[in-house]
Amino acid sequence: MSFDLPPKPVRLQKLLSSAGIASRRTAELLILEGRIMVNGEVVRTLGVKADPERDDIRVDDRRVKLKAQARYILLNKPVGYVTTLKDPQGRRTILDLLTKVRDYVYPVGRLDYDTEGLLLLTSDGDLALALTHPRHEVPRIYEAIVKGAPDARAVEKLRKGVVLEGLRTAPAYVVFDGTVTNKGRETSRLLITLHEGRNRQVRNMCAAVGHPVQKLRRIKMGPLTLGDLPVGAWRDLTPAEVAALQRATTGGGTAKKAAPSRPAKSGPRPAPARGAAPRPASAGKSPSRGGNTRPSGSRPTAARPVRAGVRPSRKPGPPRRR
Ligand code: URA
Repeated sequence: MSFDLPPKPVRLQKLLSSAGIASRRTAELLILEGRIMVNGEVVRTLGVKADPERDDIRVDDRRVKLKAQARYILLNKPVGYVTTLKDPQGRRTILDLLTKVRDYVYPVGRLDYDTEGLLLLTSDGDLALALTHPRHEVPRIYEAIVKGAPDARAVEKLRKGVVLEGLRTAPAYVVFDGTVTNKGRETSRLLITLHEGRNRQVRNMCAAVGHPVQKLRRIKMGPLTLGDLPVGAWRDLTPAEVAALQRATTGGGTAKKAAPSRPAKSGPRPAPARGAAPRPASAGKSPSRGGNTRPSGSRPTAARPVRAGVRPSRKPGPPRRR
């Protein structure tokens, strides 16, 4: 549980809210719904107290952890799973993938049902809150396979921000990484770094510039990299990764440094200096025949990708959390 221990024993709803599991009001509802157990007994009345150090406290039968024992899990979420712990529509949830995880962990932010990639889950409420707080600007890098071949203007629009539901998106770092043609269909690979998390933001941004997303994958979040974790698999973070995450949210500089100027192996390549020549409309296109096609799902391999990129030059606007 990620909280400074209140004097104990304490009321359950205070304990759960201190742990970052729910607001006090929501914690009360969880209690009234019979979703909280203390030492094996379901608690349904408000006012019951528990000792966070000695009692076994569970939410939906998953143990609430003390900060010292907090759990940090990196999941490679597949398409076809919802990022919730319970789905009223009965769809598969990320919980179905967390086999053998008995601790109460919850996702930090959200990936769409049809998005794949890096998802952090933790029992550390403070860290979860800090990571999703706009102030920290923890960058998320997405690999988007989009329809067609975005020209320099389209890439520039993505970089500067597009208006979605009346609100302009914050400046983004965008790397164009080539176009391929497969069976007569053109797709391009973009690497997009966002510092905010609006609903279906990458999809809506790309659609807004006329290049709808065909496939979307998050490959990096602050200092965390998806690496070669297989789709559907999870692993615990290393102590060094946890420390790096903490730094990213406490002004240690990781958040900004994690911007993709020095990408991980699978991340974007460095962008040219600001003002570098934009990609001509035809650049990077592969010939419509010959060996420059790719099997579906693999990365495009444009012969001479031209990259365009810019670091955000101002603070992001007021983002809405996903
Ligand atoms: N942007 C999207 O469009 N979808 C996600 O899941 C994440 C970012």
